[in-house]
Amino acid sequence: MTETIAFIGLGNMGGGMAANLVKNGYSVRAFDLSDDALAKAEAAGALRASSAADAVTGADAVVTMLPAGKHVEAVYDDAVFGAAKAGALLLDCSTIDVATARRVIAAALAKGFDMVDAPVSGGIAAANGGTLTFMVGGQDDAYAKAKPILSAMGKAVIHAGGAGNGQAAKICNNMLLGATMVATCEAFAMAQKIGLDPQTFYDISSVSSGQSWSMTSYCPLPGVGPQTPADADYQGGFAVALMLKDLKLALEAASSVNASVPMGAQAESLYQLLANKGEGGRDFSSMIQLLS
Ligand code: NAD
Repeated sequence: MTETIAFIGLGNMGGGMAANLVKNGYSVRAFDLSDDALAKAEAAGALRASSAADAVTGADAVVTMLPAGKHVEAVYDDAVFGAAKAGALLLDCSTIDVATARRVIAAALAKGFDMVDAPVSGGIAAANGGTLTFMVGGQDDAYAKAKPILSAMGKAVIHAGGAGNGQAAKICNNMLLGATMVATCEAFAMAQKIGLDPQTFYDISSVSSGQSWSMTSYCPLPGVGPQTPADADYQGGFAVALMLKDLKLALEAASSVNASVPMGAQAESLYQLLANKGEGGRDFSSMIQLLS
């Protein structure tokens, strides 16, 4: 078993993930630019490292959970590649663009490291609870080595194919989610304007062909369907700003392969509008207020 894991990026998601590695018996060497984040990791049982290179030195595996592609590329180029021991397994769990993920993995392979991209589905609660879903891109043997580590932080680990395919699965899924949420919101808003009771519309559509996860697991209207962020005035949940980030990554990837993604593009534009109105921190189902 891999014994020592360097964990870099202990924010909203990484903090809980590192704590779950500790709970599962791994020795975790933590580094983050934020002292607060490091203090929380230490309280959860991780060892505080003084730099990314210090965390990585001697570790059997390295997990990164960073904001975006530029942070990932910088951390691997400036610290991980130079400090990791021969044969260390590298896992990037951040959500980043496919092109950067593939570039960083190619660089890792060229230096003799196994590496996977392993972005997650599930938010902060799933990170804390160890119930994330990991979508993994990389070679078969790298995936096999990564699986026990990822299983300590999640409930499902799925191999999506070669390098970058984890990111591809993540952004295609979230583009679909963004589009179905917008469609669900506009249907509820229109139903109300026509004079249909929202609960009645839910009862009908949730067992009809308009049903989707956005409707039955994440209903954007308060008091209708299961308990969702709509019932807490759209606090918590999955922020508009994070949905917008993923939609931008999806459009970038679509453009790189000349894919036509009209619904994803509409969703991106609408989430941009919501963010511009100062709603970036609210749950993404608050889209219904824009369309009502
Ligand atoms: P966050 O901003 O809370 O955490 C990122 C952490 O990285 C911060 O603590 C920051 O200090 C640290 N960091 C940045 N640059 C660094 C560097 N050079 N060296 C060391 N540490 C550095 O973000 P988050 O919400 O934890 O998200 C992390 C990733 O997970 C993102 O790619 C995000 O898109 C993805 N994600 C987030 C959620 C969510 O609900 N928050 C869900 C799924 C995926």
